[in-house]
Amino acid sequence: MPATAEATHDVVVLGGGSGGYACALRAAELGLSVALVEKDLLGGTCLHRGCIPTKALLHAAEVADAAREAGRFGVRATFEGVDLPAVTAYREGVVARLHKGLQGLVSGRKVEYVEGTGRLDGPHTVVVGDRRLVGRHVVLATGSYARTLPGLELGGRVVTSDQALGLDEVPGRVVVLGGGVIGVEFASVMRSFGSEVTVVEALPRLVAAEDPASSKALERAFRKRGITVRTGARFASATDGADAVTVRLEDGTELEADLLLVAVGRGPVTDGLGYEEAGATVERGFVVTDERCRTGVEGLWAVGDIVPGLQLAHRGFAQGIFVAESIAGLEPAPVVESTIPRVTYCDPEVASVGLTEEQAREVHGDAVEAYEYNLGGNGKSQILGTQGFVKLVRVTDGPVVGVHMVGSRMGEQVGEAQLIVGWEAHPEDVTPFVHAHPTQNEALGEAHLALAGKPLHAHN
Ligand SMILES: Cc1cc2nc3c(=O)[nH]c(=O)nc-3n(C[C@H](O)[C@H](O)[C@H](O)COP(=O)(O)OP(=O)(O)OC[C@H]3O[C@@H](n4cnc5c(N)ncnc54)[C@H](O)[C@@H]3O)c2cc1C
Repeated sequence: MPATAEATHDVVVLGGGSGGYACALRAAELGLSVALVEKDLLGGTCLHRGCIPTKALLHAAEVADAAREAGRFGVRATFEGVDLPAVTAYREGVVARLHKGLQGLVSGRKVEYVEGTGRLDGPHTVVVGDRRLVGRHVVLATGSYARTLPGLELGGRVVTSDQALGLDEVPGRVVVLGGGVIGVEFASVMRSFGSEVTVVEALPRLVAAEDPASSKALERAFRKRGITVRTGARFASATDGADAVTVRLEDGTELEADLLLVAVGRGPVTDGLGYEEAGATVERGFVVTDERCRTGVEGLWAVGDIVPGLQLAHRGFAQGIFVAESIAGLEPAPVVESTIPRVTYCDPEVASVGLTEEQAREVHGDAVEAYEYNLGGNGKSQILGTQGFVKLVRVTDGPVVGVHMVGSRMGEQVGEAQLIVGWEAHPEDVTPFVHAHPTQNEALGEAHLALAGKPLHAHN
């Protein structure tokens, strides 16, 4: 920090999303004086446009499916349709309660909340309107925005997840451009709400960052649900006409839809904010840091979606807490990217932690074993009527290095999977722990039993 500048705060955090507010809360808890600058709403993408509202939509979708399929369970119910304004009211209610709670936490911990657009002026100063907030430390946490493709203009029937949250009626036909996490979650919601859905993905498979077995199971389940999946299909252009949007693919196919949802990834919000001028390295818009979230400029840190890696809220929380503790001199252990759990909340859910089988083979060569436990042998999954698997990837005679799961509600099982991978457990370390019956959690236990050479309810 320049000798002439006087710090107004120990920590100034720029951006009040998952990464930024977690950092601010933890820093304040540790007795540091903190300013948190936010131009829009405290809670950021996750709370207002991401994790929470989309999961509320997915829950409404699950309720719609339960009503529609009630007869399968011997329950008489009539599904009359989805009242989107009422779904919106429910979703907004959930978000509003959490938002209020978060505001209470921030004010309760005496974080100075500064509303407005901030910009770096050197590594220690954030300028907001006519205020200059000088921090001994500055944490960059300005998050991400929904990208589009070159030549594809947003507006009208062409929307991103931001606008798709606020639809007031269920579109008849939807084309989802992008088969990544956000794309497949929306495809799942829209299908449950009654739309005809086509997912267009340029890569050869959906959720391409996952193990190919998970992609395959998801594609099969989506097809069974009546969702059209076009993988290896490249977008060429789209025209938003009077009655419909026409999407053209490079192979000449034309798809007509009432809504084109563009879900082609999220770009970092770093442009024009003075980061490079302050000395940070910015590559393709992302702020480059070391594993300790340091930008290389003394006192300047970065967390969350602006840092290359998994764009997940819980990664942002963990990095924010890590930086706060580092600033307070606690010397915390860095956040390990490879043990961060990943969940895609479509139906069926896809959850994973650690290496895919392919990645494990790249690291460990042939000394890798994989085992797939089919949910067909799991009582609770049969009760729920879901299909899928738990796939374990282990080093031969060594630890489990990857867990991959598909099935309704299987995301809830990722916590134990994460401990197994994070603690480098061998299947034989897991088997003595008795898993409650009948739960889906049992499937994780059974997969380990099988891999340890003593399968119980396993047919393969
Ligand atoms: C549709 C969707 C669904 C998602 N679902 C999940 C999920 O289920 N699970 C999960 O883990 N992740 C999910 N994510 C990702 C998750 O939302 C992000 O990883 C997370 O929000 C990143 O946190 P962040 O703090 O880096 O950025 P953000 O949450 O984007 O917050 C950045 C904040 O900085 C503010 N800001 C930006 N520039 C300035 C400025 N100049 N001055 C002041 N303030 C500024 C913004 O207004 C924003 O509030 C989802 C995302 C989307 C879009």
